[in-house]
Amino acid sequence: MSLLNLPPLPPEPGFFFGDESRAFEGTRCVLHLDLDTFFVSVERLLDGRLRGQPLIIGGGGDRAVVSSCSYEARSMGVSSGMPVRMALRLCPEAVLVRGHSEQYGEYSRMVTSLIQETLPVVEKASVDEFYADLSGMDKYLGCLRLASELRSRITRETGLPSSLGLSVNKTVSKVATGQAKPDNQYCVRNGDEARFLAPLPVRKIPMVGPVWSSQLEELGLGRIHQLQEVPCEYLVRLFGKNGVTLWEKARGVDHQPILPYREQKSISAERTFDQDTADPSFLKTKLRSLAEGLGHELRSQGLVCGCLTIRLRYADFETVSRQQKIPYTASDRVLMDSACTLFERLYTRRMRVRLVGLRLSELSRVGAQLDLFGDPTEEDALHKTLDRLKERFGNKALRWAGGLG
Ligand SMILES: [Mg+2]
Repeated sequence: MSLLNLPPLPPEPGFFFGDESRAFEGTRCVLHLDLDTFFVSVERLLDGRLRGQPLIIGGGGDRAVVSSCSYEARSMGVSSGMPVRMALRLCPEAVLVRGHSEQYGEYSRMVTSLIQETLPVVEKASVDEFYADLSGMDKYLGCLRLASELRSRITRETGLPSSLGLSVNKTVSKVATGQAKPDNQYCVRNGDEARFLAPLPVRKIPMVGPVWSSQLEELGLGRIHQLQEVPCEYLVRLFGKNGVTLWEKARGVDHQPILPYREQKSISAERTFDQDTADPSFLKTKLRSLAEGLGHELRSQGLVCGCLTIRLRYADFETVSRQQKIPYTASDRVLMDSACTLFERLYTRRMRVRLVGLRLSELSRVGAQLDLFGDPTEEDALHKTLDRLKERFGNKALRWAGGLG
C-alpha cells in the first residue's frame, strides 16, 4: 500500500461529529478513564512548587528505576522503567522525588468512589485506570455528556486531571483515551472503530508490547490498517490463537465484559501449633513463612497491601492483635520484616502461644507502575523466579531461608 492510499487521520481529540446524544443507541457503550501521569499529579498537589517542572518519581539507589515522570521529562526522552541515572542524564534539570505511595492509594480510593457513585458497573483496572459500562444511558443524558461531567467532577473534587475514551468496547475506548491524552476526551462512534484505528501504529493496541510490535514492523505490519488488510489465517499461522485476537482487535472487535470492582477486604493465614510454644524465634519463623505465602498470593492476584495485622493466641486462649499501616507492597521481604517487628511489640506476656495469624488488608490492584517502587530490580526478579517455581512445584518447594521450619 502506498502512502497515498493511507486512510484519513482520525479527528482531533475532543472533536465529535454529528449528534452525540444518540451515538450509542442500541449498542454497548464502554467508558475508559485514565488519570494523567497520576503519581506526578499527586506530587504536584502535595507540593505546588513542582508544577510545570520536569519531574521524575523513582528510587535513589544505584539500580533505581523511574516509576513515573511528567510530560516535561518525557519530552526529553525519559520514560517509566528507565534507570534513574540514565533519566537524570537525559534531563539533568528534572526534580527527582522518592514518591508517596500512601497518598497515591488515598487519591486512587477517592477517585474510585466518585466513579462508583456516578455509574453502576465499574471495573478498576489499576490504581489510576477504570472501565465503566454506560450502555443504555443514551436515553437520558447522552453517554458522552455523562462521561464528560464525571471527568470534570473528578478534577474539581480531587484536583487530578484525567482523560477518557468512549466507544462500543474496552479495547477501542482504551486506545481512544491514549489519543486524547492529556486532559481531554475522545469518542469513537458505533461503526467507526476500524476507521479510527486504521492509521495508528500497532503498538497502540493494548495487547501489543514492544517485542511483538517490532516483530510486526519487520513483517511490514507496523500500522493497524496493514493488519486490517491481511487475512485472519495469516496471523493465526504466525501467532497461533493470539493471531485471532490481534486480527479482531485491529478491526475494533472486542467482546470482553466489564468486571465489576469489588474491594477484596483482606487475605489471611494462621497456624495452630501441635504444642504451645514460648520460643520467640520459632514464632517469628512461623510468621515469616505465613508472610511469604500471603506475599505469593498477593502477587499472583496482581495486588499490593497497605496494612498488616498479626494475631497471637496465648495458651490460656487470650487473643491479642496489632496492626500497622505500611507503604503499599507485595514484597516478601517487607512483609516478613514488618510482621516480625509487630510481633516483637505484641508478644509481651512471655507465655506460651498456641496460634499465630497474619492478615493483609487495604488491598489494591496495581498497574505496572507501582511494581517499580524503590530499588526493586533484583528482588523483583527473585520474586518472579520464586513464584514461577512455586507454581510448578507447589508452595512448599522453595522458601526464603528465614521462613524455614
Ligand atoms: Mg494513568
